[in-house]
Amino acid sequence: MSASRRRTVTVDVGGVPVGSGYPVVVQSMTNTDTADSDATAIQVARLAHAGSELVRVTVNNDGAAAAVPEMLRKLHDLGVGVPVIGDFHYEYPEMAKGLAKYRINPGNVGAKRHDENFQTIVRVAIDNDKPVRIGVNWGSLDQALLTDLMDVNAKLPEPRESRDVMIDAMVESAMRSAELAEATGLGHDRIILSAKVSRVRDVVDVYRILAARSDYPLHVGLTEAGLGMKGIVASTAGLSILLEEGIGDTIRVSLTPAPGGEREEEVRVAQQVLQSMGLRSFLPQVSACPGCGRTTSTYFQEMAERIQGFLRDRMPEWKVRYPGVEDLTVAVMGCVVNGPGESKHADIGISLPGTFEEPVAPVFIDGRLDRTLRGEGLVDEFIDVLEGYVERRYGAAVPA
Ligand code: SF4
Repeated sequence: MSASRRRTVTVDVGGVPVGSGYPVVVQSMTNTDTADSDATAIQVARLAHAGSELVRVTVNNDGAAAAVPEMLRKLHDLGVGVPVIGDFHYEYPEMAKGLAKYRINPGNVGAKRHDENFQTIVRVAIDNDKPVRIGVNWGSLDQALLTDLMDVNAKLPEPRESRDVMIDAMVESAMRSAELAEATGLGHDRIILSAKVSRVRDVVDVYRILAARSDYPLHVGLTEAGLGMKGIVASTAGLSILLEEGIGDTIRVSLTPAPGGEREEEVRVAQQVLQSMGLRSFLPQVSACPGCGRTTSTYFQEMAERIQGFLRDRMPEWKVRYPGVEDLTVAVMGCVVNGPGESKHADIGISLPGTFEEPVAPVFIDGRLDRTLRGEGLVDEFIDVLEGYVERRYGAAVPA
């Protein structure tokens, strides 16, 4: 990782440090009507329970603004202390006090009295001693600024591509807004920047420039990443390149949930990106082979899924009782070709019998053959062995 890209500024967001050498923070956003304080409090709690370390809500009208204090009270009553960020599209009365940070989109504060409106929000942040994220989005880019830069570009002997001018406009919008915020009196260490686009190459380019131009902590993610696999792959591709270069202090994966799908999916994807890159640990990792002609039944896939689900379900309790368990590695392999080798590299692993193999499943623990399971109940037996291993290995860390 390029150390030169790491930020030197830390912004405190409701007790969560963002920037400098601190771990990359996972955040998410609700999609409930903020005016419905019950639904929003429940979703914030669910996102926090899934591991979101910051949660943003939209404050897009008077009803939403009026409901924020009640929503925060409900979270408090539920014992949920996650910092809640307000995404301001509008004016904001008293409710701003309870929020941990304000997100301002400089392209969304009105064309008329643009700077005045922007400064009004900044003054609320100063008065309440809260940080802001200046969040530029290409879907609502400051059109006056973009037009100016396009005009200048058109007069060049060799005009640049409009994509490049758009990227410049995004960076300029973020930088000018940060300057204006500081000129208004907001501290340098109270500002986080973001500049979101929906294409991977664009997001990489815009953040590289932003990282080179400033030392503000950066909130990174694709905007409108999309549905399902497309959204996950596009977000992962963009985030991976930037994080590997040391760019990104807090991330959000902006997935469109499937109808009836869980909003928490975006949190799990963000965690998995960070864990896959070795930047943070959240959940024991299961290595499973892809299966092949040697795994002709669905038994192997079902076992891998059951073990993955078991780990996820046990984590809320395990992470309290067994510090460090998030670093556990488990191998679930489809046959003995690569099974024992992969199992030896994991903390604990099992190789199922492949088609036509002897119906036994060797279990390796800490690199050694520990036992061989066989018969119908071998998945349940393996789960018992796994639970016992976690207790033995990580239970010692529990204070008496
Ligand atoms: S470990 Fe066995 S079942 Fe899995 S992909 Fe390799 S050969 Fe196939």
